[in-house]
Amino acid sequence: MALLIDDSCINCDMCEPECPNQAITMGEEIYEIDSDLCTECVGHYDKPTCISVCPIDCIDPDPAHQESDDELLLRYHLITGKPI
Ligand code: SF4
Ligand code: SF4
Repeated sequence: MALLIDDSCINCDMCEPECPNQAITMGEEIYEIDSDLCTECVGHYDKPTCISVCPIDCIDPDPAHQESDDELLLRYHLITGKPI
């Protein structure tokens, strides 16, 4: 599933440059994840890299966007243009 940044985010800027899908951008008050671009890092890494770099552990699964690994892998191929 896509991930969600909660409102305890301290805008430390650590996660945004690390996202391989450019899914993280600054929102009105805190950083946000575009659920259409987040693959939970499937296709790129073994685990979500934004969670790894976040110093306060404020990134969690988004209950509104639950997808299987196959769906996330398909999104990875659509985003990157790499053949399946
Ligand atoms: S899980 Fe990966 S793809 Fe999704 S926002 Fe975090 S770094 Fe980006
Ligand atoms: S790494 Fe965590 S605290 Fe820092 S900007 Fe990203 S979500 Fe916010």
